[in-house]
Amino acid sequence: MLERLNQQPPDALLALIKMHAADPRADKIDLGVGVYRTGQGDTPVFGAIKGAERRLVEEQASKSYLGPEGDMGFVHGLAPIVFGADMAASDRIEGMQTPGGTGAVRLALALAKAGGCKRVMMGTPSWPNHAQILDDLGLELVAFDHATSEGDANFAALEQALSGAGEGDAVLLHGCCHNPTGVDYSNAQWDAIAAMLADSPVLPVLDLAYQGLGQGLEEDAYGLRTVLAAVPEALVAYSCDKNFGLYRDRVGALWAMAADTDVLDRVLSNASSLARANWSMPPDHGGAAVRVVLEDADLTAQWLDELEQMRTRINQVRTKLGEAGTAGSVDLTPYARQQGMFAMLPLSKEQIVALREDHGIYMAGSGRINVAGLTTANIGTFVAALAKVTG
Ligand code: PMP
Repeated sequence: MLERLNQQPPDALLALIKMHAADPRADKIDLGVGVYRTGQGDTPVFGAIKGAERRLVEEQASKSYLGPEGDMGFVHGLAPIVFGADMAASDRIEGMQTPGGTGAVRLALALAKAGGCKRVMMGTPSWPNHAQILDDLGLELVAFDHATSEGDANFAALEQALSGAGEGDAVLLHGCCHNPTGVDYSNAQWDAIAAMLADSPVLPVLDLAYQGLGQGLEEDAYGLRTVLAAVPEALVAYSCDKNFGLYRDRVGALWAMAADTDVLDRVLSNASSLARANWSMPPDHGGAAVRVVLEDADLTAQWLDELEQMRTRINQVRTKLGEAGTAGSVDLTPYARQQGMFAMLPLSKEQIVALREDHGIYMAGSGRINVAGLTTANIGTFVAALAKVTG
């Protein structure tokens, strides 16, 4: 039986990591992997998480099983940060812990499918796993252009997609710091999206994987909160893997908002049984560490400070890129007004290869770069290489 399986393409980013590691050039630049980097190129464990982990080691009394919903102290501690205190207290909203944001996206889309969803509208390009999960679930992806060639949100394309959507459709929206484009909707555009969705049977699915890495925790939640305030029901997929630096510990959450508490109970019972069939229960450690941070005022203050440092650095790099103006044929100014860790460079395959081979600059084959891979020390080299390759 197993011999019938077809070989799947290897993960391109993992191949890139290997190539970068094997490159002996001292001035090589890694813009491929999607993790935050400090100005020194490190991806350290947050001090607040270290503090929480020390407490867990000392105080955790048991590692006995929890249920499929995971650590509800984590889920309830996080909810006010995501929704704001008032909305988090609503009896129409409840969540559960998931293995990373990936588990949350998977669960949200599986729930949509169980509720009768057939098609999902989504701006592209998007995080590649979105399309993979939709494909695996047998949901049809209805793609529209997320961004314009000038590097702004293509609001007209979203409007058109929503006007062609109806019963049995969902729309998958990035809450902030769009991966891979960095192009986010403005608050005024979110207001208009919320108004469109309020009058529509389309189920909003909001993916918030980078809260706090754009403009701030509150600012980055504007779209999600505005949509949820306007619609009867929605699903939210959340990741703590970037904003708490927990990547491999796989920390995420799924929330459902339903029209009433009866429907909400049924949604949650379906979420639990889907979770059980998929992963039984989420890994505990990272979620427990986040809970400990959020339960303690000092650790929370430390986390907020560390998150602000990340955000400030990302935005400083963005400002520097914008100040460079142009590099060859590439207009760098849009990168200053875009948000989060990622940006798309309008490069051909050949130009991407030339940057790698001739200049030791590594990026995804799509032209996506991790802005956090740039530092005050290497940004000049990067801009000069870009000018050379595209000039
Ligand atoms: N959604 C988006 C838009 C992402 O970019 C990512 C990951 N980079 C995720 C979800 C999943 O995050 P996690 O690593 O927590 O599974």
